[in-house]
Amino acid sequence: MLRLADSIRVVSKIGPKYQKLLEKLEIKTVGDLIYHFPFRYDDFSVIKKISEIKETETVTVTAVLQKIDNIFTRYGKRITTAKVSDETGNLNLIWFNQHYIKQSFTVGESYNFSGTIKKFSGKLTLVSPEFEVPKTKNINTGTLVPIYTETSGISSKWLRSRINDVIDGLGELKEFLPEDVLNKYKFDEINSALKSFHFPNSLQEANFAKTRFVFEELFLELLKIENLKLKWETKFFGYQFKIAEHQDQINKLTKSLPFTLTDSQVRSLKEIFDSLSQKHPMNKLLEGDVGTGKTVVAVIASCLAVLNGFRVVYMAPTEILANQHFETFKKFLSPFNVKVVLKTSGNKIRLDKKEFDIAIGTHALLYAPNTSDSEDQKDKNGLKLGLVIIDEQHRFGVEQRARLAEMYTVKNNIIPHLLTMTATPIPRTLALTLYGDLSISKLDAPPNSGKKITTRVVSESKREKTYEWIKSKNESAFIVCPLINESETEALENVKAAQDEFKKLKEVIFKDLEVGLLHGRMKSKEKQEVIEKFKTGKIKVLVSTPVIEVGVDIPEATIMVIESAERYGLASLHQLRGRVGRGNKEGFCLLFMSNNFRGAYRRLKYLEQISSGLELAEIDMKIRGHGDIYGTMQHGYKRFKVASLNDLETLENAKLEVQTIFPKINEYPGLKEKLAEIEATPVRDN
Ligand code: ADP
Ligand code: MG
Repeated sequence: MLRLADSIRVVSKIGPKYQKLLEKLEIKTVGDLIYHFPFRYDDFSVIKKISEIKETETVTVTAVLQKIDNIFTRYGKRITTAKVSDETGNLNLIWFNQHYIKQSFTVGESYNFSGTIKKFSGKLTLVSPEFEVPKTKNINTGTLVPIYTETSGISSKWLRSRINDVIDGLGELKEFLPEDVLNKYKFDEINSALKSFHFPNSLQEANFAKTRFVFEELFLELLKIENLKLKWETKFFGYQFKIAEHQDQINKLTKSLPFTLTDSQVRSLKEIFDSLSQKHPMNKLLEGDVGTGKTVVAVIASCLAVLNGFRVVYMAPTEILANQHFETFKKFLSPFNVKVVLKTSGNKIRLDKKEFDIAIGTHALLYAPNTSDSEDQKDKNGLKLGLVIIDEQHRFGVEQRARLAEMYTVKNNIIPHLLTMTATPIPRTLALTLYGDLSISKLDAPPNSGKKITTRVVSESKREKTYEWIKSKNESAFIVCPLINESETEALENVKAAQDEFKKLKEVIFKDLEVGLLHGRMKSKEKQEVIEKFKTGKIKVLVSTPVIEVGVDIPEATIMVIESAERYGLASLHQLRGRVGRGNKEGFCLLFMSNNFRGAYRRLKYLEQISSGLELAEIDMKIRGHGDIYGTMQHGYKRFKVASLNDLETLENAKLEVQTIFPKINEYPGLKEKLAEIEATPVRDN
């Protein structure tokens, strides 16, 4: 008997080759396979005799194969034609570029053929039909036929057949959702839901089954988060920072800043200090729109850690930002004898082998320190890591965060405090899922409110004029090139696009201005030089790829031009425009479109009116769905298989049930087992 946790290899007809292909679909276990759900169905349920069929109909006929031929057309196209018949007449079939298909047939045998009828050279023809030998239970013809996400070498037909076998081979699965939940929401029980979702008799049946799996997925996710939270609040211990005895020093630091803290900075710091003084480690999210001044909050919290005799690790998303934060931290903290180090390139930092109070670098450089060391060793080496800060985290989900904390675990479940900072506005759905494990502090008012950024969607016909205007302004301008390929590291295509744009602007448009180029593939020293020149006004126009922009603080820049703006989510554009108008001058954000696909213009127009990142994110969510709500820049969001984060109602229901069920989970052994099972599966890095 098959079990869900079994490797996919136990399924007959799946050998090493298919195992490898299936990995591309993230299918590794039997469970993964049956949870690979169809995203639509072909309706082949109308069964007709040949004499009854009409043009454009989608039908299934049962007929005997009379002849089949592979043919090369005059233009070299490969087609396969066949003639079939039933007692009412003859019908032509045609396939394109599938000469191998001929081998699947025996002339004189009877088959089901499903597809759409078209007219070819005046004759009704079934085009590229699905087919199979008539059986008591057909899964490819004569019914609603599931269509799955495929990959090269794995077709829906193949998946259908394997999934069908597995469902038959599984026997009865144990239901793990509590019975009262099933009854309350009228969900299908797991075994029939699985069958109905893959092989329904009607769309209604399929949709009904789907509601169960949508709920199940969200419910289990929230349950997992609740479990993590519990762990954090009871099983993990932190270092209790002392506050009162360092208050003088902290006050001194605050006074030494070139500005007064805003009310919300003061409030957030109070909340953070409060958490840092608790027995259990802090797991906090500092949420604040671009420019609300998160960095200085991190500086002050870090200072408290150092005053308490602990070290701090600060993870920035890019090297440029690591550099920038290094400068900021040094500037504010060196008068207090705090040793700040920057980890730029080369090996991962050996926290135990270096003299420092605060280490700043990118995730890649600071992640996973001396994991090979035993806990004792770490302790002996005097890691004394008291606080880990993750800035502008777009890549860290709930699990990655937990894993990170555990990685830094010192002896006896003692882990450092964790401060995550984000400019991503957090709608309720994300607060429940992605950030469900965190307590949240908010920075609401930007320090220099009153300053404004004017945003305009600019039509192509105004391009020349816009360039003229930029020239006449003579202020620093960013020109952000289209994101062509979204990948973790800067893709070559993006670099190429930026290089081309740079060349054009430098040689033709802004001949008399100093134009600079910035992209992720440049050496970090080169990047730093370019940024420095831009800061000091030596470079007036900076052409860059988008990846690099997140969080860069260059108060002098006032103009932001974004090419192919329709490729971004509104929230991402909002972040990008937050780069300008940080100083005392008004900022301008100019959006060019390369294409008005799916009402892009109307969508972008919202940016002209709305200045709240949260509002924009919510509009985006409604228009584009969660998938790209944060645009192309941000990765790491949990990808759900069937659930959608737009389904707030189901999410709220799931939350409600988790709240009642989790505290008494021992009364639900099936569910407890399931939870242990999903906790044991390795985290996917997405
Ligand atoms: P973000 O929240 O986007 O990370 P930063 O921390 O980069 O914002 O801060 C943006 C700018 O605002 C910086 O130049 C910073 O020095 C400045 N800033 C921060 N706090 C204040 C404040 N209370 N008053 C005035 N300027 C501030
Ligand atoms: Mg920042």
